[in-house]
Amino acid sequence: MQTNSIIELSRSAYQKNIDFLNQLFGKKRILSSVVKGNAYGHGIPEFVTIASECGVNHFSVFDVEEARQVQAVVQNKATILIMGFVHEDDLEWIIEHDIEFFVFDKKRLTNASKAAKKLKKKAIVHIEVETGMNRTGFEKNELKSVISILKKDKEYLSFKGLCTHYAGAESIANYYRVESQIKRFEEIYQYLCKEELKPEILHSACSAASIMFPKTRMNLVRIGIMQYGLWPSQEVFVAYLNSKKVKIDPLHRVIAWKTAVMDVKKVKMGDFIGYGTSFMAKKNMKIAVIPIGYAHGYSRSLSNHGRVLIHGQRCMVVGVVTMNMIAVDITEIENIKKDDEVVLIGNQKELSISIASFSDYSNQLNYELLTRISKRIPRKIID
Ligand SMILES: *Cc1c(COP(=O)(O)O)cnc(C)c1O
Repeated sequence: MQTNSIIELSRSAYQKNIDFLNQLFGKKRILSSVVKGNAYGHGIPEFVTIASECGVNHFSVFDVEEARQVQAVVQNKATILIMGFVHEDDLEWIIEHDIEFFVFDKKRLTNASKAAKKLKKKAIVHIEVETGMNRTGFEKNELKSVISILKKDKEYLSFKGLCTHYAGAESIANYYRVESQIKRFEEIYQYLCKEELKPEILHSACSAASIMFPKTRMNLVRIGIMQYGLWPSQEVFVAYLNSKKVKIDPLHRVIAWKTAVMDVKKVKMGDFIGYGTSFMAKKNMKIAVIPIGYAHGYSRSLSNHGRVLIHGQRCMVVGVVTMNMIAVDITEIENIKKDDEVVLIGNQKELSISIASFSDYSNQLNYELLTRISKRIPRKIID
């Protein structure tokens, strides 16, 4: 455990987000909580605990390791869906525990069927189809043989879902590309229906698509970033506000990351701070040294960019982020001493550091910065 900082997860903030999302999507639609990347850095065990307490009973992960972590919390009281990597050796465990999984290559489909046969139990599969992202998903010319396998082995394969993923729904710049993906998905669905093979559910939407292209919501939405209280991009936030004619952000940040001042010191005008020469003091300065660096997940890209809160005031990171430490400018703030609270993400007095204003880059960075936060920092659930 690294106890020089702590992550707090707010249950009440999460409840508000889920209430908002449930209202937006309606009761009949399944909301799958996407918790890949260690629940976007929040920590799977603690985050899934909160989500379960708030009534969420469907989780999507990237791989089997994450599925096991979710399973350890929810036991068999929630559905778990693996969207990405599955090793052949894990198929039996998956099927035994009724874990659902994406299938985007024939080998996985036939292996799943074999494992299911051996266990005398159905494998619950979601067929992912390629619609234009060009990552994973069956190509059109493979569908015929997929259909024949699903039909032939229907005793062992339960065709639960048909799904796809969009290439950049968070930006209107990709409007045409996403629209043509939606169309292609619909065509594939029609084709399967004609072949008398109907999936139980259809799903395609991530957070951005669910807002920008409401018709993508279908039977289930796979919601990651918004449940953590962040928008996929400014564009999506603005689109939401315009669609509802409201001005208030309905989302609440769940995570806070806090540490304390390790040391305070003076720097003379003309001196450099930290490694190298990326920051030179243009005046006599006072800095606080904070025991957080890229080893804890405070990205090096925040060198000379990041901000933290001390005594309710915003302080700039000066110099490069090193492995275990950063320095921040406290020249204008009186009486800062060792052990005073430092907020890396979260609120202090009236101010707040959202993840994006870690720096002035795009919101896309939210995803990356969050998932970098070290697993070894203790997580605490608060109200
Ligand atoms: C990550 C992911 C999501 C969730 O994306 P958000 O933008 O965080 O809502 C949905 N579907 C798939 C396939 C994903 O990989």
